[in-house]
Amino acid sequence: MAKVALVTGGMGGIGTAICRKLADDGFKVVTTYSKPGKETSWLSDNQAAGYHFHAYECDVTDYSACAALAEKINSELGQVDVLVNNAGITRDASFKKLSKTDWDMVIGTNLNSVFNISKHFVDGMADRGWGRVINISSINGQKGQFGQTNYSAAKAGMHGFSMALAQEVAKKGVTVNTVSPGYIATEMVMAVPEDVRNKIIANIPVARLGLPEEIAGLISYLASDLAGFMTGANLAINGGQHTC
Ligand code: NDP
Repeated sequence: MAKVALVTGGMGGIGTAICRKLADDGFKVVTTYSKPGKETSWLSDNQAAGYHFHAYECDVTDYSACAALAEKINSELGQVDVLVNNAGITRDASFKKLSKTDWDMVIGTNLNSVFNISKHFVDGMADRGWGRVINISSINGQKGQFGQTNYSAAKAGMHGFSMALAQEVAKKGVTVNTVSPGYIATEMVMAVPEDVRNKIIANIPVARLGLPEEIAGLISYLASDLAGFMTGANLAINGGQHTC
């Protein structure tokens, strides 16, 4: 029977590539969205491309909504074997101008969500003796970024979570890793003015943005049996930018 992979916020640029790659690998793939409206076209576009995904509405900042999501997935699709905590947002502002709301939203969506979702799936993975938790962080959680105290704190926190949980579940066949992408050619980055984007690219040794498919390739490896010896790692995938 196919293993089940849950990708949170899988309808975005990176998430879609991850969903498709895991489906190519033979997983039954389920994703979440928090803003209803785009799921019908996303599902049908993917169906037209040969991908049959499952999608549930769930605000990952809401612990009880995550509990309800887990119950639905367990009863309708089966136990989750691979969890990719991918949902994320930015609300950039210099610390001087950063509001409490934007601090809370970014910590809630990028970091609290990892607790809210993982809490309902990790015990099951450990009981079954196999599982993969993959947290999508960012280069800016490794090196910090002007205007992103909230995002950098949340993304760095994700890796603290990975290192600690990795130790707790290592003997149960469950691995927990962080992936820290650099700048990827998604709508978010392509919306940045061209001159700013060119400055970003000038700082990337490979002299281009990354592709969502390149991130998905790394997730595919981490989700595989072959990656059983890799846990508690923070994998930088950023075109050669120095991060520590
Ligand atoms: P997108 O904005 O395209 O996708 C983010 C996804 O998160 C959306 O599908 C969105 O769904 C979901 N999401 C946001 N808030 C919530 C919420 N409260 N509950 C549930 N889902 C939510 O971003 P990317 O694909 O570019 O990024 C994916 C991940 O990679 C993020 O964690 C991001 O921080 C990280 N990253 C991205 C980089 C890049 O260059 N693009 C670089 C480094 C890291 P909905 O709209 O339905 O809320």
